[in-house]
Amino acid sequence: MPTHRVLYLLGPENVELRLEPIPQPAAGQVLLHLDAATTCGTDLKVYRRGGHPTMLSAPCPFGHEMTGTLAAVGSGVTGWREGDAVVVANSASCGQCRFCRAGRENLCTHLLYLNGAFADYLLVPETFVRRSTYARPAGLEPALAAMTEPLACVFHGLSAGDLEDPTECIVLGAGPIGLMFVAELAHRGNHVILGDLVPQRLDVGRLLGASETVLVSGDRDGGDKLRAATEREQGAQLVIEATGSPAAWSNAMGAVATGGEVLLFGGCAPGTTAELDTHRLHYSEITVKGVYHHRPATVQAALDRLAGGDLHLENLLQERCTLDGVEGALGRMASREILKAVVST
Ligand SMILES: [Zn+2]
Ligand SMILES: [Zn+2]
Repeated sequence: MPTHRVLYLLGPENVELRLEPIPQPAAGQVLLHLDAATTCGTDLKVYRRGGHPTMLSAPCPFGHEMTGTLAAVGSGVTGWREGDAVVVANSASCGQCRFCRAGRENLCTHLLYLNGAFADYLLVPETFVRRSTYARPAGLEPALAAMTEPLACVFHGLSAGDLEDPTECIVLGAGPIGLMFVAELAHRGNHVILGDLVPQRLDVGRLLGASETVLVSGDRDGGDKLRAATEREQGAQLVIEATGSPAAWSNAMGAVATGGEVLLFGGCAPGTTAELDTHRLHYSEITVKGVYHHRPATVQAALDRLAGGDLHLENLLQERCTLDGVEGALGRMASREILKAVVST
């Protein structure tokens, strides 16, 4: 029986590359041959903690940013054929619950997650074939197409904001997601100020279109520093927090202008609380919104943007590796030597 390689997460900082029989798709399923997968901050979190409260529980295959080619198509599948190049999103919504009916599929009561992008092949379940599989545009490089998922999260985040005309924005955090926010906001004509602790990451931010960068410390003064960098030193109309640290949540509140909006994107650990300046929140009418994950509409929008080639997200892919190099790449992400790696089989 022909076999393929699957990277398993066994526990905290414990992975193993296993050989398994290549699965065959049952009715409604497809078999994906992975062309590229990208490592993500969530993968690093999952690797360190040995699991994730909603996405997966070890031992299990992992990796969730992916693109591939259909190697086999199960009976009853319509719209897809063997050889089609696709992007499969890492979650599938039910389409029927009250959130799905309201177009808020990211909050679906029955949201399913798909993991196992760090492998040669992946069996795509029926719901994902129907609701979460997208054609990869011709000419779009697999390494870029694999980043559809995080960019879809960024598009979802921006769609939650009230941003109409181009304005002054602050992005807190220059990890891959923060940098994608920078690239997209700059592409839409906004003046973007980026804050982070790591100078090299700020350099990438400038490459992607940040007009200004601010080296912040991890302390509470970060909000004031960022506010001082805005044009009239009054703060920005839109502030996006993309670090997942409670101090940054508070700093985001300190960097927003009167009447402005804060989008809280970075997920903190369960049980975390953050301080909010209640006086500012009330008297300056600050809008604070939590934003999570992506929706089918934003997955398609992200894919279209990647196909357009305007964002230059190849700057985020600072390492290329094969399946046996994933663990090393995660280590270099942890030590902040690289932002993201692309894994090809
Ligand atoms: Zn991701
Ligand atoms: Zn639903």
